[in-house]
Amino acid sequence: MDVAGRLPRLRGALDAAGCDALLVTSLTNIRYLAGFTGSAGMLLILPDEVVLVTDGRYETQSEEQLAAAGVAARTEIGQYARQQEVTKALVASAAVGRLGLEAAHVSWARQRAFAADWFAGVSLVPTVGLVEALRRVKDPGEVDRVVRAAAIADAALASVRPMLAEGPTEAAFGLALDFEIRRLGATGNSFETIVASGPNAAKPHHRPSPRQVQHHELIVLDFGAMVDGYCSDMTRTVCVDEPTPEMQRVVDVVLASQAAGVAAVRAGVACADVDRACREVIGAAGWGERFMHGTGHGVGLDIHEAPAVAATSSDTLAAGHVVTVEPGVYLAGIGGARIEDTVVVTDDGCWPVTTTSKDMRVCET
Ligand code: ZN
Ligand code: ZN
Repeated sequence: MDVAGRLPRLRGALDAAGCDALLVTSLTNIRYLAGFTGSAGMLLILPDEVVLVTDGRYETQSEEQLAAAGVAARTEIGQYARQQEVTKALVASAAVGRLGLEAAHVSWARQRAFAADWFAGVSLVPTVGLVEALRRVKDPGEVDRVVRAAAIADAALASVRPMLAEGPTEAAFGLALDFEIRRLGATGNSFETIVASGPNAAKPHHRPSPRQVQHHELIVLDFGAMVDGYCSDMTRTVCVDEPTPEMQRVVDVVLASQAAGVAAVRAGVACADVDRACREVIGAAGWGERFMHGTGHGVGLDIHEAPAVAATSSDTLAAGHVVTVEPGVYLAGIGGARIEDTVVVTDDGCWPVTTTSKDMRVCET
């Protein structure tokens, strides 16, 4: 991963955003720019230097991580009052007239404190998505981490999948899957695992419950692993023995929709067109109203990040984007299906980081 190359690219965007300096307060963005993974801190990007401001818990870690990332930044360590004093002095001595804040990552209370106490007399500029824009295109090291996370998720599912035939509760199966994800080397889940069986599969974001999974019903499994901060995301819909004819038709339509979406993914294609490709297949089957979420999203340090793959998206795919394609059909009270792959966008199309077969069978009848 070329972490050190990111700050210069961000600097190139500051002037157009109307600021002389930027105070980065999103911990994910700080990690992206400087390699620091602590739970508290601010990264102050001044015209001539970069300073990571954090507290005593991270005195050693911050130095180590900045050095490991090869990032030319120094650290300032202290509690709130000291951080305020140091940051205020740095901004004043650099003669910053316009200080950018990350509008989506500053609470109202914090903004008021910044304006009144920290940076009185400085023009505070609300910026949106400056670092997130850089994060869209992944470098090979980032893609490698997503691939490793996806490989763990694939292997974990393969390992615990036969358990479904024994009729575990959704919660027990989810726990077994999560445990396997950790055992295989992930630092954690990239989000809370979804195990939705039978009628619960009609709820796109169902939480694993005490319900026991049954034969002949659809089971939606949506989960991901995390490796070195990077997420994976996949959904498979499976069934012990044969599903009902109606549910088989739902799965067939979702499979065709998902394939159409993946086939539409290519650098230069509007995200809204990928969404349309998925939605047309489901609409033609008469379930257009039952596909009530967007088609996909970017995946990286955050499980949901830019670009959005949705009808309302104005984003265009570019080589190096990592996005999901995950249409679904949900029939309230009956069941549902969703199929999701994470793919890496290329100039010619895309390639999947998710490799689990879409064969839904848990065991042969
Ligand atoms: Zn998912
Ligand atoms: Zn997803």
